[in-house]
Amino acid sequence: MRIVLISTPIGFLGSGKGGGVELTLNSLVSGLISLGHSVEVVAPKNSKLHESNVKAKLHFVEGEDQISWQHQDFNSPVTIPDNSLLVGMLEKGLDIAKQADVILNMSYDWLPIWITLNVEIPIAHIISMGSESLLISNLISKVYAKHPYNFAFHSKTQADDYPFIKKPNIIGNGFKLDNYTFQDSIKGPLAWVGRVAPEKGLEDAVFVANELGEKLKVWGVREDENYVSRVEQSFPQGTIDWMGFLSTDELQKELGKCRALLNTPKWNEAYGNVVVEALACGVPVVAYKRGGPSEIIQHGETGYLTNPDDKKSMLSYVEIIEKIERKKCREWVEKNASTDIFANKVVNWLNEVMQEY
Ligand code: UDP
Repeated sequence: MRIVLISTPIGFLGSGKGGGVELTLNSLVSGLISLGHSVEVVAPKNSKLHESNVKAKLHFVEGEDQISWQHQDFNSPVTIPDNSLLVGMLEKGLDIAKQADVILNMSYDWLPIWITLNVEIPIAHIISMGSESLLISNLISKVYAKHPYNFAFHSKTQADDYPFIKKPNIIGNGFKLDNYTFQDSIKGPLAWVGRVAPEKGLEDAVFVANELGEKLKVWGVREDENYVSRVEQSFPQGTIDWMGFLSTDELQKELGKCRALLNTPKWNEAYGNVVVEALACGVPVVAYKRGGPSEIIQHGETGYLTNPDDKKSMLSYVEIIEKIERKKCREWVEKNASTDIFANKVVNWLNEVMQEY
């Protein structure tokens, strides 16, 4: 298959601004290449693919980022800036795709979905968020009526946000296991990883660490500095140990030393890459039963799930975290979320999309 992949129009690959899509794109490229497919990636200038993905051709586009939908009102209109990066990426993608079988869009935005109705080449969409925009959900519904196979989701709970999709195609996600080393360190600190923004609920994890009289190690892009200050001011100074945004290799080395990852989403998390990355290092996860993490974590086997927003229950599970066998965490990832498993699901889905055309 000749596949043209359109990246996120928010931040270059490697910046962290694109969130989980950056890692997902890399995993997918390596899985597709190892299955023998040809992949070209259209991405913002300065993007870097993982070094093992040299076989994929990277096309750069310059322009203004889109505004992320999770930081706009549900009813907001679509805005397209002058010199739009998204428009540029689509133009480039459509041009390259004259020689391709399918376009695979990974940007959660209105324009690429709308254009599906207006071009002959199949455009398949990996929807990377729950329903964050009325306009986009309505548009997905409209395109779905004509092209029912063109959408895939990371988890069932995420797809539930789009109830008009009768049999959603659930593709999970994939992780290159060689990039993560198993560590058996049961006495380490508590970890939290993610974009530091309100939908990620950092304050609940800091609450747990503070109750235990510990520091919380936090990795990730500080996306919203006002939110950062609000969280910092709610707890004694120094409770948060800011570790910055690291490459996957550096992150996994540090994360693997931790005794648990706390995952506290306030939104319908589509998947939750950081949950699987922790498991891949042998780190059990205590998370809210909300969105993707509720389908990933095996309660009592690879971590614990608590009722959403129940910080006290999260605290009590952290206190018994040593009951979890760290090897079982790694095993779950090997059996359920490798790049090969993920790429095979995506290829089966793309075949369905192409047949329908
Ligand atoms: N991440 C990273 N370095 C860091 C912190 C986070 O590369 O120091 C990456 C992490 O690997 C994951 C992404 O940030 O792929 C966050 O993705 P997730 O699916 O958890 O949430 P999203 O940001 O997509 O809502």
